[in-house]
Formats: sequence, structure tokens, C-alpha cells
Amino acid sequence: MNFKSLFIQRSQLLIAGILTFLFVLLTKLLPLYLTSQHIIYDEEAIGIKAGKMSALLTWPLSDLLSVHFVNSYYFIPFVFLHYWLLIVVLKQIHLFFKQRKIYRWIFGGIILVFIILRINPNLLCALDSNEPSRSIGTSGNGSLQHGRRMLFRGNNFQYFNFLSYLKGNCFVHEKVKQSLIDAYMICETTCPGITFYTGEGSMRRGGPYIFNHRTHQNGLSVDLLLNYKKNNEPYDPVGLLNAYGYGLDTDEKGKVNKSKPINRYADDTQLDFETNARFLLALDDACRKNGVRIRIVILKTALKPFLFATPSGKKLQDRHIRFAHTLTPMLNQAHDDHFHVDFEIVQ
Ligand SMILES: [Zn+2]
Repeated sequence: MNFKSLFIQRSQLLIAGILTFLFVLLTKLLPLYLTSQHIIYDEEAIGIKAGKMSALLTWPLSDLLSVHFVNSYYFIPFVFLHYWLLIVVLKQIHLFFKQRKIYRWIFGGIILVFIILRINPNLLCALDSNEPSRSIGTSGNGSLQHGRRMLFRGNNFQYFNFLSYLKGNCFVHEKVKQSLIDAYMICETTCPGITFYTGEGSMRRGGPYIFNHRTHQNGLSVDLLLNYKKNNEPYDPVGLLNAYGYGLDTDEKGKVNKSKPINRYADDTQLDFETNARFLLALDDACRKNGVRIRIVILKTALKPFLFATPSGKKLQDRHIRFAHTLTPMLNQAHDDHFHVDFEIVQ
């Protein structure tokens, strides 16, 4: 095999070119667009996210270079080289295995395991530790030992996304897991016929996420997607086109904002404040039973009066559950489709 056929093939150059274009789109053009259209208000936060995405998309090369350089436009030619070399190396590995029969068995086995897990993702919980969970440090700077995966699915609840579950972004302290399960069980009675979605927790060993969350580091933070209604019927908010529920945007009154392209198909849909309040009541009850306390709930501040105006919201207020008062524009905007709940272990 000569140099030319190994390195210089038109298809390899083309794929590397497309990947580089996608890199520029995601890390340079999209952040510019989001800031210019005021879709996301906090420029600094978007800069940080773009930087983290640049590093992730060009790993392991990005580990060898300074953050400043990875964020700069001078890095783009290196991105092309990086993808090009990666394609050459992956192709050689593929050719090496292709000549061996066992390759097909391994490949078939991986597909089979994937299908079984897709049918019953709860099976992954069997891999969790049986030791008592330990949450170390704070949710903004901490880690998790012997965490547990939340259940993917139960009678009236589901985790929002399979790939996130597979990646293990769904770990919590064991007592938080039990509290969530118990809360959903209470909701089978208090909110019949309604499905609830859990969002992300922590990673298996906690620590910082690359994207999405600045906190969620020690198994005591969970996102819980809000419930909606459309023509007085429960509306399922989770789908590919709205980032599995995290992409829905509501206005200051809790109506889904149709002017955003991502919401366009959710006509006449609004937050179901009574159900959301009932869920928090159930969660509070379940926490007390399990030696856990709700430390704080984060929800877009404009939505709180609507939540507290419902019959169950009034009960919620009587219990003095703490809600975040002031949030940065970015955090405020982000919490219009889910509650972020921080827990603490009391016993
Ligand atoms: Zn969160």
C-alpha cells in the first residue's frame, strides 16, 4: 500500500471536509446565531458551551492544546487534519478486523445487547453497586460513590432519553432514587392517567458534565420535566424535534411559545400547573419517608405565581419548600420546561 492510496483518497478528504464544516457550524455559526436572535441571552455562557463543544468534537487533539487556541479560528485547519487522520486510522482498524471472522460475531453481539437494552433499559440497573451511596461535596463541585441509575420506566413514568440513559447521565443517590419511585407511585393516585418524565441526574461517579449542567455533580440534583396540557388533555412533551422535552419554550404565562421553530407543532399547549404542583407535593412526601429533603427547586421565576395559584400549589407554599428567587437570564430561560431539584440527605 503506498502513501497516496492510504492517505489521499477523495472520499476521505470529502468526509473530513464535511465534519469540519459541521464543527464550524456547531461551535462558531450556531452560537453567533443564537446570540444575535436573543434565543439564548447569556453570551458568556454560550461562549463557554461553544468552547466545551470544540474540545469535545476534537478530542483527543484538544487535550494537547491550550483552551484559547482550541476556541480560536486558527484551530479550524487543525480540525480538518484531525478528522482526516482519524478517518485514515479508523479505516485501517476496520480493514484489520474485517479479515477476521470473529469480527462479525463481536459486531452481532453488540447489536443484540443494544436491542435487548433498548427493549428493557431497566436491566442496566443490575450493574449498579449494592453499597450505600455517598454524595461528596456540593452539587456544583462534588462527586458520587455507589450511585444508582434512576429507573428508565415504571407504570406512570419514564426517563426522557435512551441514549442519555445508556451514557449513564441518570445516576442519583440511592435515597433520591427511592424517593422518586415513591413519588411516582403516589402520583398514580393523585394524577391518574398522566405520564411523568425524569430528566438528567449525575454521571456514574458524579463530577462535572461537559455540557448541559454546571451542577448535577454529586447525585443530589435531578431535572424533572414539566407536564403540559393541550385542550385539557395531557400533552406528551418528549420528542426528537424538541430536544426530548428540554427544547420546549414557554412564555411568561406558561404557554408554549409558538414563535420558536422548535415549538411549532405544539399548538395551544400550556403547562399543567396543577399537575406539576401535585407532583412536587408527592415528591416532598416521598422524600420525608426516605430521609431526604428537597433543598431547593429551580423554576423560571415568572412561572412560580401560576404554580402557587393552583389548589395544590397553595399547599406547596404552606410547606415552605424553597424555590430559587433570583436566577441569571440564562438559568431562568433554561428552567421553563423542567424543575431542577436539589436534594439533601437528612438521615
Ligand atoms: Zn438541572
